[in-house]
Amino acid sequence: MLTKKDVVRQEKYLKLNTDGEYVIDCDEKLTVIDFHTHMSNVLPLKKVDPNKKGNKITYKALPGPEKIDLSIPYWEKVNPEEQKKGLKSLIQFSMAGYSIFKDMCNGGTYENCFKSQKENMIAKNVVLPISTKRHDCSMEAFKLEKEYPDNFIAFCSVHPLDKKMKEKIIYYKDIGFRGLKLKVTDMELKNDFQPLLKLMKICHEEGLPVLFHTGAVNNIKKENCSTTMWKILQSTRVEIFGHLLKKMPSDFSFIFGHSGIQEYKEVAEYLKVFPMCYAELSSQSSGSIKYLINEVGSQRLLFGSDWPALPQALTLSRVLSATEGDSACRDSILYKNAERILLCKTKY
Ligand SMILES: [Zn+2]
Repeated sequence: MLTKKDVVRQEKYLKLNTDGEYVIDCDEKLTVIDFHTHMSNVLPLKKVDPNKKGNKITYKALPGPEKIDLSIPYWEKVNPEEQKKGLKSLIQFSMAGYSIFKDMCNGGTYENCFKSQKENMIAKNVVLPISTKRHDCSMEAFKLEKEYPDNFIAFCSVHPLDKKMKEKIIYYKDIGFRGLKLKVTDMELKNDFQPLLKLMKICHEEGLPVLFHTGAVNNIKKENCSTTMWKILQSTRVEIFGHLLKKMPSDFSFIFGHSGIQEYKEVAEYLKVFPMCYAELSSQSSGSIKYLINEVGSQRLLFGSDWPALPQALTLSRVLSATEGDSACRDSILYKNAERILLCKTKY
């Protein structure tokens, strides 16, 4: 059976720390902005005080060493013949999602965050809250940046069906938020994207970059899924955002979160059409990162990890592998492109 030690043995830029967690293995000094992170108080579950001490992250989203395949996005071997039919698989799917969110709420504390930043040479985390129609946690993200301005950059998150959507976005921009994040599976299930388009237009007017969770799960066959399950798996597919971008002005700054996961090739095609679009790399492999560099260059790719769903070292080690021998390309992806979008300068 494969162990974590076997995994890091095959990976040049990955090692284990004394707690047996994946951390970066690199002698060079790096400057890194992590463009995709969360914290314990900015998720759609009961918030956990980020000051809490002693909470361990178990990385529920991380495949075990025997299932890990670092050459494919999301690094998990999936059986394409897997059956996702009936209520039982729907329940299992939601329970797995819930347990990942719970792990993130439990583990996304200051203590764990600062430790991970230090071990992985991360200068700053961009914190992405996830708001729902009824619960807006943007101000919680704001508090994190105010308390630790050297460690965090806060995005806001406003649901497109929030009754005060417009005034909130204007206010959030005024008080200093650097962008807006959304994950809106519910809206996509209704197949009505007009409110989302309206939200994007307001963000464009206000000059706020927008990052959405993007990417369908498409390595499971349609005929093996129930209709509802298939809709859920397809609900954040890259194509939806491509259609919306066609209706937006060409200077709209949009970031494909996770680079569309398995749909990174589609993301590359949209990046060729829309000059102000970016791809954030969390969950990608070194192979897919190389593909994106070859197709669109290094100027519109952003390192992100999805911590604390996943260890910060994973995508970081993939970026280091994919940019070996090209320090200009590496610096662009690790922090320079992020600085340009966020209009900030990193201390290093
Ligand atoms: Zn995330």
